[in-house]
Amino acid sequence: MEHPENDDKYIGLTVNSGVSQPPVVNPYMTRRKRRPMPTAGEFVEGILKGDVSMLSRAVTLVESVSPDHYALAQEVIEKCLPHSGNSRRIGITGVPGAGKSTSIDVFGLHVLKQGGKLAVLAIDPSSERTKGSILGDKTRMEKLSIHPSAFIRPSPSAGSLGGVARKTRETIVLCEAAGYNNIFVETVGVGQSETAVHSMVDFFLLIQLAGTGDELQGIKRGIMEMADGIVINKADGDNIGRAKLAQAQFKSALHLFPPTTSGWMPEVLCYSGYYELGIPEVWAMIDRYFEFVKGNGYFERKRHEQARYWMYETINERLRSAFYDNPQVETMLADRERLVLDNRLSSFIAAREVLNFYFDNIAGNRTK
Ligand code: GDP
Repeated sequence: MEHPENDDKYIGLTVNSGVSQPPVVNPYMTRRKRRPMPTAGEFVEGILKGDVSMLSRAVTLVESVSPDHYALAQEVIEKCLPHSGNSRRIGITGVPGAGKSTSIDVFGLHVLKQGGKLAVLAIDPSSERTKGSILGDKTRMEKLSIHPSAFIRPSPSAGSLGGVARKTRETIVLCEAAGYNNIFVETVGVGQSETAVHSMVDFFLLIQLAGTGDELQGIKRGIMEMADGIVINKADGDNIGRAKLAQAQFKSALHLFPPTTSGWMPEVLCYSGYYELGIPEVWAMIDRYFEFVKGNGYFERKRHEQARYWMYETINERLRSAFYDNPQVETMLADRERLVLDNRLSSFIAAREVLNFYFDNIAGNRTK
């Protein structure tokens, strides 16, 4: 059809007819086929062989929110459990900027020089893959990320702390079954995640900085109490004096804390992650700790205690999500909440009504 713009009165606006679209832009492109989901047996076989891509896929499965994936993931974990446990689990925390990624990079290389394999995992309930801090992200650990014996996995994406932490806990099992005998679990030292990390590691390392005014600020007292070792980073150049001073302050502060249940007296050391100073010394401290707690039986006791903790955590988390994620419960909650806020219903009656509805109509119908 002739374009109306080609009329004489629109002189200068000639419109050429277009070029017809070629049928295929890139004849070599074929649709990528979706890989079929391996069976639990295939997952486990791959993991036990140390197949990294199978391990990654299993971790993705663990992190998935789909109920089908949940069942399969649990089967894989169960089969991996007898092959797990044979590792040193080390929690590493510190406020943003303390130098966690720089330090994990050099600590990791130091550990790997002694042989074995290292998995770096993270717990950061505030993180999402697309924004915010992404702990454990490969790009933050330049040397480790290209090391063939290192497996780095960012935090499971945002969700409830319980959910995120459980996924990391389960990932530890998979990594250990795949032969990773060193596990680092990273977290930002500002909130609740530390308690969760503490409940899944053998040794808890707190990275601190000197010269930030009151040395005990910025990190919650409870986190300091959990630490088995406090290391002051950036002890280099002009900062060495301040780092030493902070070391003395931390040491005396630790004396005020109640004795640890392990009987281990937490140590305080200075180092520089960036200039790689004092790294073997930090690691020697961690070796001493493991020797100490394996000698006095605390290592085993703590792992048993943690296993119990995770049993109850998993129950709590599943109950909570089964309840709150149910659409009918959600609607009913919104309704009762309004009545409570309008003073037309007491909090207790509202709670009882919703719970009764859940137990009578929903809980019993769940088969999974
Ligand atoms: P994160 O947020 O705890 O992971 O900290 P990063 O590892 O990203 O480090 C924050 C900043 O501190 C970066 O600019 C690092 O280069 C710097 N940094 C880390 N370790 C050291 C160190 O040992 N000495 C000095 N001077 N700077 C460091």
